[in-house]
Amino acid sequence: MSSPNADTPLDPAALRADFPILSQTIGDAPLVYLDSGATSQKPRAVVDAEVDFLLRANSAVHRGAHTLAAEATELYEDARATVAGFVGADEETLVWTAGATASLNLVAYAIGNATAGRGGAASAALALRAGDEIVVTEIEHHANLIPWQELAARTGAVLRHIPVHDDGTLDLDAAATLIGERTRVVAFPHVSNVLGIVNPVAELVALARAVGAVTVLDACQSVPNLPVDFAALGVDLAAFSGHKMLGPYGIGGLYGRREILDALPVFLTGGSMVTTVTQDEAEFLPAPQKFEAGTQPVSQTIGLAAAARYLDALGMDAVRDHERAIERRTMAALREIPGVRLLGDASGVDRVGIAAFDVAGVHAHDVGQFLDARGIAVRVGHHCAKPLHARFGLTASVRASASVFTTESDVDALIDALGDVRAYFGVDA
Ligand code: PMP
Repeated sequence: MSSPNADTPLDPAALRADFPILSQTIGDAPLVYLDSGATSQKPRAVVDAEVDFLLRANSAVHRGAHTLAAEATELYEDARATVAGFVGADEETLVWTAGATASLNLVAYAIGNATAGRGGAASAALALRAGDEIVVTEIEHHANLIPWQELAARTGAVLRHIPVHDDGTLDLDAAATLIGERTRVVAFPHVSNVLGIVNPVAELVALARAVGAVTVLDACQSVPNLPVDFAALGVDLAAFSGHKMLGPYGIGGLYGRREILDALPVFLTGGSMVTTVTQDEAEFLPAPQKFEAGTQPVSQTIGLAAAARYLDALGMDAVRDHERAIERRTMAALREIPGVRLLGDASGVDRVGIAAFDVAGVHAHDVGQFLDARGIAVRVGHHCAKPLHARFGLTASVRASASVFTTESDVDALIDALGDVRAYFGVDA
């Protein structure tokens, strides 16, 4: 790794050597990858960790008496300890999942199972009754919206939405009114994948706690970009994805406070999550194994642990400072381009390196193609946040998002290109 000291500021240009994909050209232009919010690139250390496991120690875990199985089990549980430590969890409070979408569905379906009477006395406290309320925000990614819509439809609960101000900040006064004695679940993003603003977790947790509601944090866009400590944040449950934090696809996590994980009934069932099984019924292992049915994605957990070690060595304070610097440069320059409107233009708020914008008179997809012709990769569309776009009167936007390897010259290339885009499409400045 190029920058092993967590106390030194991050040097993105030096880190690029760790990401071979970044050295290619798109046509004649060097690749400028500004789509880490969709998925980050993977450093060689992550790929090597996975490949090394597959070539040297591959075996199914938690079963088998042979040497390879024991080694694989040790590596797999070590990976859990590493990733748990990275997010402020301990080993019993980190469930492996396929990613944030899987984690959030797990929680919503498990609460549904509690509502159906599964899970015994501890689970009954999580059950929803018709008229109970699930509170989300207007800024959700679909992954933290649709599972709750479905749970509401199955249980008769009512979905309510904390509004967003025009500047992209959440309306906390409205939240204080919305979160009341019927509220059983409060689910919200740490950082919106469109607005990039860090939301006030402590305030929302306090409101939820005051009425005994369970808090569910979508931490997909915070874990890669800021120091995150779920236990310190005080949330009950939290979801994140490996592929957005320099790690592999198909792996992520669900953090849960121990009492909540104990109380939640199981969702997916099958092998590896039971103590005893008869023809008629089964008893389950404690968390986290009770949520990890079936053969697990072992090599991906090992790759994810390598990603957590890579970020840890950079220092998450340094990563956050780098993200802030990139974000400030990007936002300041975008504000100066005629016809560019930022989604969530609040100033004086904490942000990560995500900026979404509309270019007046040019469809987001055209902007994306224009940028691609200059080697610049951005995301265009609704970014799986259709209701949020509707709230801002749009169907699509352009999103640029940074990672540890994003340089100032990446930002400058974007800004230069955007300066030309409206003239290219014949739209008056
Ligand atoms: N929440 C947020 C805020 C996201 O940005 C994403 C991914 N775009 C998700 C949830 C879903 O993550 P995944 O697709 O990795 O399950």
